[in-house]
Amino acid sequence: MSSASQPSAVSCSRCDAVCCRLTVVVMPEDEVPRHLVERSERGLEVMARGEDGWCVALDHQRMCCSIYEQRPAICRKFAMGSPYCLAEREAYRHRYDHEIPLKLY
Ligand code: SF4
Ligand code: SF4
Repeated sequence: MSSASQPSAVSCSRCDAVCCRLTVVVMPEDEVPRHLVERSERGLEVMARGEDGWCVALDHQRMCCSIYEQRPAICRKFAMGSPYCLAEREAYRHRYDHEIPLKLY
């Protein structure tokens, strides 16, 4: 989600956009296209997700955000190589242990 300087072993360009499977709360000040937003069971506005679990704004061909300039603040704050990023990558790796990951390594 973010391109801040981080350890070279972790790169968004070699990741299945794992963080784009998380619940992303949309804040009132976010300028996300409204058709990409839905209301959660808890009544929060969140980025809609497809049946595959990824945010509907993800460009699956390039595995990157199709609304990069308009992405929610929470996405801007999610730092590549941060503890949360590493934890999500690890959880994803375990979840798909028996399948062939697209790019995560
Ligand atoms: S999980 Fe981390 S490495 Fe993967 S796309 Fe998100 S920020 Fe980038
Ligand atoms: S808005 Fe973009 S960066 Fe945020 S979860 Fe969706 S695809 Fe990922």
